[in-house]
Amino acid sequence: MAKIHEVTSLLEQLAPLRYQESYDNAGLQTGDANAEVTGVLVTLDCTEAVLEEAIAKGCNLVVAHHPVIFKGLKQLTGRSYVERTIIKAIQNNIAIYASHTNLDNVLHGVNTKIANKLGLQQQRILVNKPSTLMQLVTFVPVEHTEKVLAALHQAGAGNIGAYSGCSFSVTGTGRFTPSEQAAPTIGSANQPEQVQENRLELLFPAVLQGKIMAALQQAHPYEEVAHYLYNLENQNQEVGIGMIGELEQELAEEQFLTYLKEKMSLQGLRYTSIGSKKVKRVAVCGGAGSFLIKDALRQGADALLTGDVKYHEFFDAEGRLMIADIGHYESEVYTKEIFYDAISKTFPNFAVLISEVNTNPVRYTF
Ligand SMILES: [Zn+2]
Repeated sequence: MAKIHEVTSLLEQLAPLRYQESYDNAGLQTGDANAEVTGVLVTLDCTEAVLEEAIAKGCNLVVAHHPVIFKGLKQLTGRSYVERTIIKAIQNNIAIYASHTNLDNVLHGVNTKIANKLGLQQQRILVNKPSTLMQLVTFVPVEHTEKVLAALHQAGAGNIGAYSGCSFSVTGTGRFTPSEQAAPTIGSANQPEQVQENRLELLFPAVLQGKIMAALQQAHPYEEVAHYLYNLENQNQEVGIGMIGELEQELAEEQFLTYLKEKMSLQGLRYTSIGSKKVKRVAVCGGAGSFLIKDALRQGADALLTGDVKYHEFFDAEGRLMIADIGHYESEVYTKEIFYDAISKTFPNFAVLISEVNTNPVRYTF
């Protein structure tokens, strides 16, 4: 049987908690991480109705996109739906886990899901998240180089875009003098030593620092492993918010609206007109993405698909960008499929179910 923390670690490999925004509260919200999983229910929102579904279907882990505890709770008396949901989860031993802005900020997260639904080509992240890459420089005796490199690659260092196994090395001379207290691999106490070493340089995602340093210590032959760690300001193509890509064929405004309704299963949407201009380059951001209007314009998008756009924000389209507000729920409901695919592929021993509750509090009438 798998434990809850094994499922949540898998989700954190996909969307590390460190990638969540500062205002967010992603992670395990209720429950015992060491409990055995009886079943997982995946949902956009965790509400009382979703918990009832979990209880009825024998699931003790609910994985949601939106954290039900978002702000601080000062009491648990059951006065609000948030308090009642938490009380119900605790009374029924249900763990609630949320993968929120961290899932918005990764490749293969919320926005890739939308971009794929729209069939966008040449997808890339709209705004990269800064300070997510690091560089490791270390010095390894020449004959141990391959072993150390293999361990570092295994831990996730040296992957750049579509390339893996990336590193740079140059050979030089390392010098050191072991003390009486040292247990050197090469050399002896108080004798200055010179060794032919390779200087290795590798890039890696900052979230993997612990794992990569452990792998280095493990694989390196020396007692003291000489190394430098640098924070980089290079753009990380794999971390950031929103996606942008191109439709296979440009579409006129009316055609694009019909296309959106069909691909995203919409009853309707709010949008700004671009007149006779055609839509080819499309930016997307699940949830509330109006903060990306200027970035979408700057990158030449013809349309921005998102939710929760306010009246005055629509003016920022300047007649050049079709802002398509399809609704917060409608833009993110398919995150359930991301959780479902990831968990069911790795854990065949328990049921992973997609919640059938429509948690959208917004209804439409025409
Ligand atoms: Zn959202």
